[in-house]
Amino acid sequence: MHKHSDLLVIGSGIIGLATAFLAHEQGRSVRVIERDDRPVGSSIQNFGHACFTGQADLIQGVADRARTGWLNAAERAGFWAAESGTYIPATTETEQQILREFAEHRGPDQVTWLSRSEVAAAIGNPVLAALSGVHLPRDMRVNPREAVPVLARWLAAQGVDFAWNTQVTAVADGVAETNRGDYTASEVVVCPGYRLGHLFPDLADSHGVRTCTLVMSLIDRPYAVPAELAMLTGTSLARYEGFTAMPYAPELRRELAEREPELVDCTANLMVTGLPDGLLIGDSHAYAASPEPFIDEHIGNLLLARATHVLGITAPVVRQRWLGRYADSRSTNLVLERPDQRTTVAVVTSGIGMTLSFGIADLALSGGSVPGF
Ligand SMILES: Cc1cc2nc3c(=O)[nH]c(=O)nc-3n(C[C@H](O)[C@H](O)[C@H](O)COP(=O)(O)OP(=O)(O)OC[C@H]3O[C@@H](n4cnc5c(N)ncnc54)[C@H](O)[C@@H]3O)c2cc1C
Repeated sequence: MHKHSDLLVIGSGIIGLATAFLAHEQGRSVRVIERDDRPVGSSIQNFGHACFTGQADLIQGVADRARTGWLNAAERAGFWAAESGTYIPATTETEQQILREFAEHRGPDQVTWLSRSEVAAAIGNPVLAALSGVHLPRDMRVNPREAVPVLARWLAAQGVDFAWNTQVTAVADGVAETNRGDYTASEVVVCPGYRLGHLFPDLADSHGVRTCTLVMSLIDRPYAVPAELAMLTGTSLARYEGFTAMPYAPELRRELAEREPELVDCTANLMVTGLPDGLLIGDSHAYAASPEPFIDEHIGNLLLARATHVLGITAPVVRQRWLGRYADSRSTNLVLERPDQRTTVAVVTSGIGMTLSFGIADLALSGGSVPGF
């Protein structure tokens, strides 16, 4: 039997580490248990885009707390976090109409209208074929390959215990059984991401949790494109719930089906974020209980061609491709359940877990919920 802690966190992805960070700030003794020898899950595979503004109205309070959490954690742990916002070029009248509706709905603090030349300059392509665009100034960027490992190292240096290479096999009533013995705590927060079904199969079944796979690329970043860039496109306006709530959203879906059938076929959310030494380009979405491991070269090339066209990059140099994975559900964006009095399970079941992480951690620790999300 290992020593007792106030809080056990299962999983060292961003949901687990955000929970550990907040609990540590509250002065609680915290231990994190992780099956791998370092964080290698969804939280390092993504765009590092904290897209607060595009989320549904219902979740804006949680998004605000997440934003505060990211800023605090970045300052304390010393990882890069840029309050650089998101740029969205409007390339058709329909995209422009949705952005107009969204700008009116959220107001000038959240949405800044840009001329064609302003949005072109911001994304680094002076010949961008756009009508206009917007900037969402509250959105943030982190480097996903840096933020999560640095936060884990910083927490460890502050006295949070990490049990790496330790697979949890069952959790109930303040006891986590693992392949290296049992751990006990006053409270356990379980953040296993897309592996939820291995620990809580009934919960995973009842929420229809499945795995989403996404084709991603890292290319060299031309000097003209800023390292802190976050750019969404028309397919993103058909995806994030803040935009899809706008009256013109059905028209955009019709337009995309005609104009970009290949992107619609692979359920693309065409977007780009910058890193000091590269650009992250993606993504497609495929859903399965147990996904195929293969990367479809056609989808990778399609996303690359469309993204580099918007950015005016003529000869992209691909450095990496990977198939990202995250937990998904058709019926909910969030599994936040309390199977017994000492156990909370927290899994974001759509591709917005980086964005909401610190807000979800706050809910998990405070006993809160977001009905209907
Ligand atoms: C390609 C891609 C792009 C994305 N883009 C964005 C984006 O731009 N913005 C955004 O907000 N979100 C984005 N997301 C989603 C986001 O990455 C996820 O929602 C988020 O990282 C989930 O965090 P997590 O901590 O739940 O999962 P993970 O990071 O997967 O962490 C879960 C951890 O739990 C561990 N674990 C699981 N089971 C056990 C067990 N039994 N015992 C011990 N340890 C266990 C795993 O090993 C893992 O380390 C993207 C995801 C992908 C894949």
